[in-house]
Amino acid sequence: MTATAEHGKGNFSAGPAVLPVDVLEEARENLLSLGDTGIGIMEHSHRGKPFVAVLEEAERSAREVMSIPDDYAVLFLQGGASGQFFQVPMNFLQGGTADYLDTGSWSSKAIKEAKLFGTVNIAASSKDRNHTYIPTESSYTEGSKYTHFTSNNTIFGTQWKSEPEGAKSALVCDASSDICSRPIDVTKYGLIYAGAQKNLGPSGVTLAVIRKDLAESGPSDIPTIMQYRSQIANQSCYNTCPTFGIFMIGLVFKWIGRQGGLAAVQQHNEAKARVLYDCLDSSDFWNTPVEKDSRSLMNVVWRLPNEDLEKQLISDATAAGFDGLKGHRSVGGLRASIYNAMTQEGVSGLVDFMKEWERTHG
Ligand SMILES: *Cc1c(COP(=O)(O)O)cnc(C)c1O
Repeated sequence: MTATAEHGKGNFSAGPAVLPVDVLEEARENLLSLGDTGIGIMEHSHRGKPFVAVLEEAERSAREVMSIPDDYAVLFLQGGASGQFFQVPMNFLQGGTADYLDTGSWSSKAIKEAKLFGTVNIAASSKDRNHTYIPTESSYTEGSKYTHFTSNNTIFGTQWKSEPEGAKSALVCDASSDICSRPIDVTKYGLIYAGAQKNLGPSGVTLAVIRKDLAESGPSDIPTIMQYRSQIANQSCYNTCPTFGIFMIGLVFKWIGRQGGLAAVQQHNEAKARVLYDCLDSSDFWNTPVEKDSRSLMNVVWRLPNEDLEKQLISDATAAGFDGLKGHRSVGGLRASIYNAMTQEGVSGLVDFMKEWERTHG
């Protein structure tokens, strides 16, 4: 099948997820020859001039799109967001205490790893109501090393509308599922990290934006590759970096620029999410467990009156070309992931399908 304007219309996968068709076409053109080098993007040495230019361009585009100031480094790492769950405490916890905001499965996994390196204070948690909301009250620790939160909860479908307030230490954010979905003020953070496979590119590369002085504050008696400082000193190429992933992230940042930047992307995301939430709110047939003001613009979750109906809808939707709607195996129900690259037409198509399905099964 060739890429067309229809590409990705029915792909509601939570990740790896739909990518912009322009980006995929550009990638295809460079598979056999990066520019006119005669060598494919995946075949270039990570130390050669052509790839170094790709890397520098990706960083430049990231800085432009996200307004990243010079006192922050842009890193392309490996090990996924899950690797950051331990790299962060390995560098910055060091037997001290860190504040963690527990808003769901990914936060909990980050907490589990942090406990290997020091004390975790759960400054706030939404566990009491099965993570269906974003907590507003927190109790932070005096002298904490950093404050970790998950900006968008991919599995439970909740999202922080803005950064948590009142933290007593540098904010560290797992932004894997809403990075670049809206403008943020990078200077409010010590570190932002995101596995690329939801909003930025293919799996296998992790974007990290880190304040340089924070990076420098880490210990130097941990493995070299685990020190943010050595990744900074080596421009993400302490070892062989994920070259193809970096190339793809660069293309995605360029694409975001062509959309009009993050403010335009946010408007687009709000419009898309509205269409789907309006459908879910329009009838008691659909049940949205998440509190309205905590709803995610990226991962929309809902339930049907019973699990048999849920199974039936997922199976009928799949047959009709709507893929990836099964809720995470830990929570069940349905979930539509509508990341940046999901189009308005894609969401409208799903909503039309759901309305018709409700008419015949409701
Ligand atoms: C997908 C996801 C992860 C896991 O990412 P990996 O790159 O697979 O480790 C972590 N956090 C959040 C919020 C996610 O959505």
